Amino acid sequence: MRSRMAAFIATGLAAAAVLVCVGATPARAGSEVNIYSYRQPFLVQPLFDAFTGETGIKVNVIYAEGLIERMVQEGANSPADVLLTVDIGSLATAVEQGVSQPLHSDVINASIPATYRDPAGHWFGLTMRARVVYASKERVDRDAITYEELADPKWRGRICTRSGQHDYNIALIASMIARHAEAGAREWLAGVKDNLAHKPAGNDRAQIRSIFAGECDISLGNTYYMALMRTNDKEPEQKDWAAAVNILMPNAEDRGTHVNISGMVLARHAPHRDSAVVLMEWLAGAEAQRIYAEVNHEYPLRPGVPVSGMVASFGELRADDLGLADIAGLRARASEMVDEVGFDDGPSS
Ligand code: FE
Repeated sequence: MRSRMAAFIATGLAAAAVLVCVGATPARAGSEVNIYSYRQPFLVQPLFDAFTGETGIKVNVIYAEGLIERMVQEGANSPADVLLTVDIGSLATAVEQGVSQPLHSDVINASIPATYRDPAGHWFGLTMRARVVYASKERVDRDAITYEELADPKWRGRICTRSGQHDYNIALIASMIARHAEAGAREWLAGVKDNLAHKPAGNDRAQIRSIFAGECDISLGNTYYMALMRTNDKEPEQKDWAAAVNILMPNAEDRGTHVNISGMVLARHAPHRDSAVVLMEWLAGAEAQRIYAEVNHEYPLRPGVPVSGMVASFGELRADDLGLADIAGLRARASEMVDEVGFDDGPSS
């Protein structure tokens, strides 16, 4: 155990990652948990501080990219107890790569609706983001839209989006396959491609900048980017981008808006399994759900926990109740479809 911890610290330093030992309250002897986090410190550190304060369990965190690959390489010697990440794509990859183990916790299952966790217990959602339409306040005069409509020729040359192969779009396309079968989804995707203003490039925020610049009128983006732009004091021009657009919640009138999750995985070789389960159950609890949703501008998954004031300002979210596990199962097909229609080549004419 000691050598494993030493290895944990050594690899952490070698990767120049931040290793944080939270210990304001004396930890119970031997009580600690090692987290591998794709999420940035400012998003999750407030959670770990509160957790350690309540339980006395020390939390060690490595913040980095490529953590799933790293767990694969570390194998049985991996010091990781819990993996924190975003998107069903990353959660599903952790399972496919064999770095997870199933957990059956009545506590978590009572907190997190079944739609947002793996039926086999390999991953659990913690918060939710919606993939919405950002619409120019100046040039789009409407308060409702559907994903299906994005293929309508009336939007010709007016839509911006990041790559169709990005996890965020893959999950959305997978949901369209689930709803319209392959032929319907392919026809839809080809229609959206033909309505693009230009070749997909850049991230979600870059599309909103394009709307601000008059290059397109609507884009696809995740909800929390509105909050990140509105509050961006480092790059205040982003506040202008945000002010140029409204959020439209697609399909609010029928099946609901496509959502994705941030979530957690119990590591296959978790050396501190008991502490890890205590942490995971705590993260599904009301206090943690409130803190996490507040700092990441996402939607808590535990029913009854309120959204932040910022998130409330986006308008009411009615989430599509399609299971994230179903979306995970259609991701590969969605990715092939993006290539089949040449989505990332941009509009054909
Ligand atoms: Fe993002």
